[in-house]
Amino acid sequence: MGICGLHCDRHCRHYTNIHVPYLENRGITEMRRSTHVAHQVIVLLVCGVIGISSIVGGTVVVSGTSIHGPDSIVATVTLSQANAVSLIERHGIPILTVDQAKISAVVLASPEEFAWLASMKLSPRAVPDGVAEQQGWKPGTDHGRDFHSYAQMTALLQNISATYPDITQLYDLGHSVQGRTIWGLKVTDNPTVEEDEPEVRMCGVHHGNEYMGAELCLLLAQYLTDNYGTNDTITDLVDNREIWIIPMVNPDGHEMGTRENVNGVDLNRDYGYMWGGWGGSPGPFSQMETQVMRVNALENAFVLSLSFHTSAAVVNYIWNYKAQRAPDDAVMVALSNQYGSRTGYDVTEGYDWYQTMGTPMISAMDVEVTLTGQLRPRTQTSKVPGR
Ligand SMILES: [Zn+2]
Repeated sequence: MGICGLHCDRHCRHYTNIHVPYLENRGITEMRRSTHVAHQVIVLLVCGVIGISSIVGGTVVVSGTSIHGPDSIVATVTLSQANAVSLIERHGIPILTVDQAKISAVVLASPEEFAWLASMKLSPRAVPDGVAEQQGWKPGTDHGRDFHSYAQMTALLQNISATYPDITQLYDLGHSVQGRTIWGLKVTDNPTVEEDEPEVRMCGVHHGNEYMGAELCLLLAQYLTDNYGTNDTITDLVDNREIWIIPMVNPDGHEMGTRENVNGVDLNRDYGYMWGGWGGSPGPFSQMETQVMRVNALENAFVLSLSFHTSAAVVNYIWNYKAQRAPDDAVMVALSNQYGSRTGYDVTEGYDWYQTMGTPMISAMDVEVTLTGQLRPRTQTSKVPGR
């Protein structure tokens, strides 16, 4: 079974999610100096691997719709019951951090959800804004200074494309609910030709308020293009891979500063494969943004995919929806460990972390990386961050 639940006879596909915390009070200039992050991404780019996926039925629980943004409450909860994480996730409340011992978690809640958490005897306690910002659970008030806006991202991608026409092609992949273009930059030699090369995809900002995902994608695009022809490794990658970079899957949410898209749907729960009706998603691929990602995946035989998230520091690989290991688990672990060893991030199988449904972890190798906003090696080894 190939991507998005549709058969594919070309290649097996591999997907990875990467989570990092919010950028903490750093300007774009300083962040651009942090090109080591681009190196970490390239670690995974180098590897083209083969695997086989399988499908197991899942529970469908439709939860309410709620938009989580700057006004949401960052709260700690006590995981007093064994299924508490699942209860919270199914209720559509974003989980930002789960303690490794699963004793407590940090969530992003509306006032109504805060009350629900209390009614469930999960003992929610609001985290002061200053602490939440310091921990990377909430962007600072000056985050507009630190991150590219949608317009700035568009201008940068267009500039890269114009500067390096021989190795890039900028695609209008489709549009968001509010009509913003979802850009896809293809980086490869002969970019207008579909060559028989392994294809990989990096994307960011499924969650609109997780700004660092776009920044890493832009850093990678800049790094690959700037170093082509002078750096042998980069030149080899560009010549022998088709590298897709999609910095903002959820541009409307990015501009609003909300986790969900403008319809209040968590796009990272809206994918059709093992869709569960969580995060406000009314149906598989119900949103324009995930439909764009689906078409892009069907048009390209991705062998590896990375999806960047924020609020913590972890590399998480398939599966998210079931405990059973993927057939190519050893390859997934090896790849994820390469990334984790260079960044200091925890490496975990998705389900071991906590179960989610309808994520783009849809085929044989899907890795999420949650990036820490501080862009520094992690120091809190006891924390397992949220996606
Ligand atoms: Zn996320």
